[in-house]
Amino acid sequence: MKVQGSTILRGMTRDGSARFLVINSRDMINAMREAHATSPTATAALGRTITAASMIGTMLPEEGDTVTITFAGDGEAGKIIAVADYFGNVKGYIQNPLASPPKKPNGKLNVGAAVGAGTLSFVKCVGGGDLQTGMTEIVSGEIAEDIATYFALSEQIPTVLSLGVRVDKDYTCLAAGGILIQLLPFPEEATVDLIERNAAALSNISQLFELGMSNEDIAELALKDIPYDIFDTLEVEYRCDCSADRMRKKILSLGRKEIENMLDEQEREGKDRSLTAVCRFCGSEYTYSEAELLG
Ligand SMILES: [Zn+2]
Repeated sequence: MKVQGSTILRGMTRDGSARFLVINSRDMINAMREAHATSPTATAALGRTITAASMIGTMLPEEGDTVTITFAGDGEAGKIIAVADYFGNVKGYIQNPLASPPKKPNGKLNVGAAVGAGTLSFVKCVGGGDLQTGMTEIVSGEIAEDIATYFALSEQIPTVLSLGVRVDKDYTCLAAGGILIQLLPFPEEATVDLIERNAAALSNISQLFELGMSNEDIAELALKDIPYDIFDTLEVEYRCDCSADRMRKKILSLGRKEIENMLDEQEREGKDRSLTAVCRFCGSEYTYSEAELLG
């Protein structure tokens, strides 16, 4: 499942008022869809979340850091989780990949209904294990509004965030992407006004990508009349970092007694005394014998 083509463009306004990131996430979302066989609404919900997480990952302080974004809403999608690393590579999970609430009256996928009401939490694992956590209420369940609100309330960072996922008739992702603009301390008022004015053009960002616009074209729209510099472009992808060793440690963390109970249960069902764990991010299966777990 090697997929290429998703990239993040990073830059800053020349006056230091704001930094911006633009991502084209179609290929990343199609890789996610292969792993989870999502319904169109689930593709949009998880797709928007991994699109945001990928950009946010690249803002982490150092290599080895991760950010986990969790929507715990009461909608039929259940829990939605995205984990991104410092390089912007991302993996995701949706509890109910078949979530399919009725469309909105305007014919659009109803991501807000799929997510429902509840909490949005961020866990950043930085500097080799320190956890920074924050939580806000889900505002609309439309993902972008919720994450922008999280930044405003929990981290006091004014943020413009637009995310879009367009699902084709064959259920593949036709176009998707996002833009994130964050104000830096002591921004110029005139620049802030222009960013707010330009934001109106970004409301349907998947359509902009569908029209063939590049990350650079979208940055140009977002920063119209504002001098800015582009720093770099990162290649990012949907990637799971699970391994037999890591999954084994996860099982071992349950404790000897619990593992013995589970092995006994297997035996009662007439199966081998072994345990199989399935990675919830990519579907990989790992099986361990009793000796490997308790030996
Ligand atoms: Zn995995």
